[in-house]
Amino acid sequence: MTNSTTDRLALHGGEKTILAPFKRYNSIGTEEVAAAKEVIESGVLSKFLGCWEPDFYGGPKVQEFERACEAYFGVKHAVTVNSWTSGLIAAVGAIGIEPGDEVIVSPWTMCASATAILHWNAIPVFADIDPLTFCIDPASVEANITPYTKAILAVDIFGQSANMTALMALADKYGLKVISDTAQSPGALSGKKYAGTLAHVGGYSLNYHKHIHTGEGGILVTDDDSIAEKMRMIRNHAEAVVGDRGITDLTNMIGYNFRLGEVECAIGIEQLKKLKHLVGLRQRAAQRFTSGIKDLPGLRLPTVSTGNTHAYYMYPMLLDNELLGVSRAAIIKALEAEGIPGLSAGYQNLHMLPMYQKKMAYGSHGFPWSSDICRREVSYSKGICPIAEALHERSYFAIEMCVHELLDSDVDLMVAAFRKVWAALETLR
Ligand SMILES: *Cc1c(COP(=O)(O)O)cnc(C)c1O
Repeated sequence: MTNSTTDRLALHGGEKTILAPFKRYNSIGTEEVAAAKEVIESGVLSKFLGCWEPDFYGGPKVQEFERACEAYFGVKHAVTVNSWTSGLIAAVGAIGIEPGDEVIVSPWTMCASATAILHWNAIPVFADIDPLTFCIDPASVEANITPYTKAILAVDIFGQSANMTALMALADKYGLKVISDTAQSPGALSGKKYAGTLAHVGGYSLNYHKHIHTGEGGILVTDDDSIAEKMRMIRNHAEAVVGDRGITDLTNMIGYNFRLGEVECAIGIEQLKKLKHLVGLRQRAAQRFTSGIKDLPGLRLPTVSTGNTHAYYMYPMLLDNELLGVSRAAIIKALEAEGIPGLSAGYQNLHMLPMYQKKMAYGSHGFPWSSDICRREVSYSKGICPIAEALHERSYFAIEMCVHELLDSDVDLMVAAFRKVWAALETLR
């Protein structure tokens, strides 16, 4: 029936499945407006002072938001920062990374996970990913450990936790620290704990594109008193404060201004209250989508590891190109023509970025790799992460889940579009 007018793909001149744009995802409501207004009317938009006195830790909304995050995520310390990129930099510094130390990181993440390592003149080493969860593969991590390895930066990519049991066991075995980049998985569970809270330090992004946001912002979480205090120091001009504070260990006590303002924290307090509900809506959309397309051949739907829940920042899929006999590009083109928004083919492997290929980060002479703080030749050549590279080149594709509301009726249209394209696969060969 695929040649009848109704079943003809939009790509081939048939009618589009999705005719009107979906409603935009928007986590901000009247509660955030009221909370922001109250702070603005107070005139105190930030209360931080970069010297050793009570305001060193920020104003009332910073305090209130941090205590709310501690209660929510079940951690001893939450430290807010002006972006999660800042949070990652503070975390790497606070665990005591030295110039030239190696930190193992996933190639499938946002670029800041790896640049946070470089910002301390340490060396990112890329380990391969698990082909089903797309998180870093503990076996590949272990294979990449050298005498210079000091930490693992695990990313809870697309909405679920990395294999923290295995990664923390490696950390114990080799004396490493673990940082969780949980920017894409706030509110996802790993066993009874929230993703991000199983590492020595973890945290979440509050940028506009994430499940909850404050425009820009980030939250660091840890149970370690010393790491927490170092992060607070790095957040707020550590070098100016260590003297009065009586701190004698100056390791990485070079500070930044990573402070999050009162308005953002007031918004964050309201956003946090909605996190569970918002993640629940992503899960509802994903589950509805899964039940609608799970019988389609040659299509692997998201794998949620035992004990995990998935927050569905992305809905990641794999195509069996050989079975289908159709290229990923042709399928994506057909799905896009049917009107499915937020499709992406492949995922940027960080080690393939020009900065790593040319090994040029600071200045123009290859620092830090060319300097003697880098104690061995670290490879970023194509081939170091064969699974990540193959999935990027051939089979991986995804739909963004935090760009549109994805009401049941939207999801049903997405299902219809997938089913229509699958019914007409031979016209794409
Ligand atoms: C968004 C994101 C970041 C960066 O967060 P910002 O708040 O934008 O700085 C880091 N890592 C991952 C995995 C992300 O998705």
